Amino acid sequence: MNGKRLDISTAWADLNADLKAILKETEVLETVHGHDLGKVKAQYKSIRAAYHRTVDAVDTLRYPVDETLIPQQVATLVRRLERVGFSSFYKAERERSMAVVTDALLADSDIVHGLRDWPDLSHREAFYLLGTAAAVQARTQVIGSLRAMHPTIVLFQQAKTVNPANGRGTVTLACHSRAALGIYGKTLSNRVEFNTHADARHHYVSARTALSIALHEQQHDMQTAIAATAPENDAAPDLRRDALRLHFSLASNIPATLYTPYRAQLHERDARYAGEGIAARVCEALGIK
Ligand SMILES: [Zn+2]
Repeated sequence: MNGKRLDISTAWADLNADLKAILKETEVLETVHGHDLGKVKAQYKSIRAAYHRTVDAVDTLRYPVDETLIPQQVATLVRRLERVGFSSFYKAERERSMAVVTDALLADSDIVHGLRDWPDLSHREAFYLLGTAAAVQARTQVIGSLRAMHPTIVLFQQAKTVNPANGRGTVTLACHSRAALGIYGKTLSNRVEFNTHADARHHYVSARTALSIALHEQQHDMQTAIAATAPENDAAPDLRRDALRLHFSLASNIPATLYTPYRAQLHERDARYAGEGIAARVCEALGIK
């Protein structure tokens, strides 16, 4: 979350137009999603409206939503989002790919030494390590026959954003830039961004958490590469339905300020699964907690 967001209504309108054309040709509307993804968007809009009626003038895009005020709406949206899943082909490819990335990370002596020395690393060394880990993942990960691009590592500075209504704040250590999501223009976004602000100091988190965050963001690059094949039916035939699902999920992009539904999105579940899974295996192999 870094303030640069797709305009959600424009993105959704574009996406619907794209998808309608694709789905008309392929006639896979029912089997692709198994439910109406349009309802996810409608539900998200109604949550924002309900929340704004409950809490006076709080910006739900910038500040965390207090989900206890709208529990039913949140639960319904989460259920809808969790029904969206991947094919068994994708899951098997992801598993195979995670093993390859784990081995490659363990074979890189800079990464192994950096993780072992994590508490003593300078800010610069820590972000170099995390950027290198993302690059190793990009170099070795293959899903179907698809690869992500080498990541462009960008450092940014963003202080904690505090919600004036409840005094609670959010801060992010790393994010994936979707400002140029690129699915429509076919230019892939490959930016993994690290927040170097004191509020997001790397040493506030463990080596394992930091590694999982870097790999999580790079996994979003992989997803973008897959999603970008959606408009071309024959680009990756085995992944066509996964590409459509990712395409929808990335473009709907429920912001992190609506935290539980945000985490329930397909692309967030996938990035967590890959990032946390690989980081756990690497750290266990090195005896790092
Ligand atoms: Zn994410």
